[in-house]
Amino acid sequence: MFNIAIDGPAGAGKSTIAKIVAKKLEYIYVDTGAMYRTLALACFRDGITADDEAAVVKKCESVEVTLGYENGTQKVYLNGEDVSSEIRKEEIGNMTSAIAVYAPLRELMVSMQRKIAAENNVVMDGRDIGTVVLPNADLKVYLTASARTRAERRYKELVEKGQDCDIDAIEADIKDRDYRDMNREIAPLKQAEDAELVDSSNMDIDQVVETIIKLAEK
Ligand code: C5P
Repeated sequence: MFNIAIDGPAGAGKSTIAKIVAKKLEYIYVDTGAMYRTLALACFRDGITADDEAAVVKKCESVEVTLGYENGTQKVYLNGEDVSSEIRKEEIGNMTSAIAVYAPLRELMVSMQRKIAAENNVVMDGRDIGTVVLPNADLKVYLTASARTRAERRYKELVEKGQDCDIDAIEADIKDRDYRDMNREIAPLKQAEDAELVDSSNMDIDQVVETIIKLAEK
């Protein structure tokens, strides 16, 4: 199996890029953030707060997270319910990085992710794919961009969806999330030693895709 790992901070464009690369190569795209988001949603719906580790872990161990594909698009299910849209809310994203620090739930997700990668050619994106989940991936990419660029992209996305938002608040949220993801004890976000660094601050989507496809062909 050929495994491509794409890691990087929030809003670097990982999922957009990974989806296109997967389609071009006819690989399966695996969005691991969606898996952690689904766990956060399960807790959120039950009124469990992120700081209540025991309750969070218990909840996460009791639910079933599954991935499926509809017309080539990844869907994520919580106990069989399609929650692919609901997990995209900002409040869920922020809660996700707060619960993603707990080891037991990471172990659950990592074993699912390894199984998928062992059985399929994948483009898998996340924070710890090249460092922890697939240390032997055939290609590792660390995709990043400046915090301001990432905030601007997110801002545009939200405005296009008709949501009212403040770019400075988005940038502050992004920086908070980076800090938490990079400084946690378990599986922190960092560039694997053998990962290729791609800074997309001054690149458009096509340029990033082309860069990664070229690396894969090498
Ligand atoms: O990529 P996305 O923004 O959907 O990820 C949401 C959160 O899930 C991240 O901020 C991170 O805390 C967590 N995550 C993780 N490990 C992964 C993927 C996501 O800890 N492999």
